[in-house]
Amino acid sequence: MVSQSIQFEPLPPRPELAALRDEVRRFLAERQSSGAYAPGAEGWAGYDPAFTRALARKGWIGMTWPKRYGGHERTAMERLVVTEELLAASAPVRAHWVADRQSGPLLLKFGTEDQRQTYLPRIAAGECFFCIGMSEADSGSDLASIRTKAVKVEGGWQVNGAKLWTSNAHRVHMMILFARTGEAGPTRREGVSQFLVDLSSPGIAVRPIRNLAGEQDFNEVVFDGVFVPDAMLVGEEGQGWKQVTSELVYERSGPDRWLSSYFLLRQLADQAKRKGPDAGATRQAVGRLAAHLWTLHQMSGSIAGMVEEGSLPNTEAALVKDLGTTFEREIPEVVRKVVPEQARFGAAGNPALAHALDHISLHAPSFTIRGGTREILRGILAKSLGMR
Ligand SMILES: Cc1cc2nc3c(=O)[nH]c(=O)nc-3n(C[C@H](O)[C@H](O)[C@H](O)COP(=O)(O)OP(=O)(O)OC[C@H]3O[C@@H](n4cnc5c(N)ncnc54)[C@H](O)[C@@H]3O)c2cc1C
Repeated sequence: MVSQSIQFEPLPPRPELAALRDEVRRFLAERQSSGAYAPGAEGWAGYDPAFTRALARKGWIGMTWPKRYGGHERTAMERLVVTEELLAASAPVRAHWVADRQSGPLLLKFGTEDQRQTYLPRIAAGECFFCIGMSEADSGSDLASIRTKAVKVEGGWQVNGAKLWTSNAHRVHMMILFARTGEAGPTRREGVSQFLVDLSSPGIAVRPIRNLAGEQDFNEVVFDGVFVPDAMLVGEEGQGWKQVTSELVYERSGPDRWLSSYFLLRQLADQAKRKGPDAGATRQAVGRLAAHLWTLHQMSGSIAGMVEEGSLPNTEAALVKDLGTTFEREIPEVVRKVVPEQARFGAAGNPALAHALDHISLHAPSFTIRGGTREILRGILAKSLGMR
């Protein structure tokens, strides 16, 4: 059975975007030749506040937001062009990524006027960075089971509990916290709320967790009697479920869900130019992966078009994330299969490819977990298709 509820409109040609794409490419080439950064296997994970501020000066953070909040009133398609180019060039965008991608849009939608005026201009200027405080121990996919509680006290809320896997909490300024503020109700989706939390507040401890590659990327964030003023409640008390799910379209549909291994694909394309015994299989693999990449680009663009028209295509975003992260994970597997060890190591080897393969292989398992696991995304799709 084919459902009407999953729909990707084809992208009409937008020749006017080519000039913007060229401008971003020129900017990135200049940054690379001045030594500001070098493209590498870490892809968009590089954290560089100076680079972020340079992007802000170009007007490439908060691109679609109203000018009165420091934004630039550009289109979602223009933002997509900029993000694709940044990620394809392994630009170090991590500092502002969450704030630009989802915390800012969340505040635009549900925040108070005061919250918008305080935070959006600082985000757009590349001066205020955010993290996402959703997951907890035993509560990742089943987000409604969170145990972190915010209890009403005079003038605000007192928060106790712990968030887990919080990317970047050790180096950003603010968290959007998802906490229980009331009874769960029969669906367990009632009585949850979102708060803006200043991570320098007394009572917050950020504890590092090392990932598979030994790097500190995510953390446990413990809240011990943390006071959060009333003014920091985002949206309505008890409406956190509706709000948090509306963030997911931004979190799941973008090129950051299919370009994490792009640097390795570029290395594979370079390998295909060598005349080794693997050349034929390598060329075929590059062709097949490039076709997948192009399809994902079209699908992401289609979602950007829908967002531009004011809809929130959560199901389509889940599909892009599932296909996109499967693609990101497949690239190191394909490279390992088609480029034999002797073509990677030794005198005639390709050390750049070998290094990228090692690095990305250690990170690839997380691609299909972060932002919602594969099984959860497929559950959403099955429901939309009327299969569950
Ligand atoms: C690199 C990385 C960065 C992250 N950054 C953040 C962050 O910044 N902020 C944040 O809040 N969280 C973050 N997360 C957490 C992430 O969102 C969760 O890990 C994810 O939602 C899965 O939750 P879990 O780890 O509790 O696994 P579980 O929910 O326990 O799932 C374990 C396994 O069971 C499967 N499963 C669970 N429920 C079902 C079901 N109903 N049907 C079928 N299968 C099911 C899952 O698919 C998975 O394979 C990050 C995770 C990673 C890996």
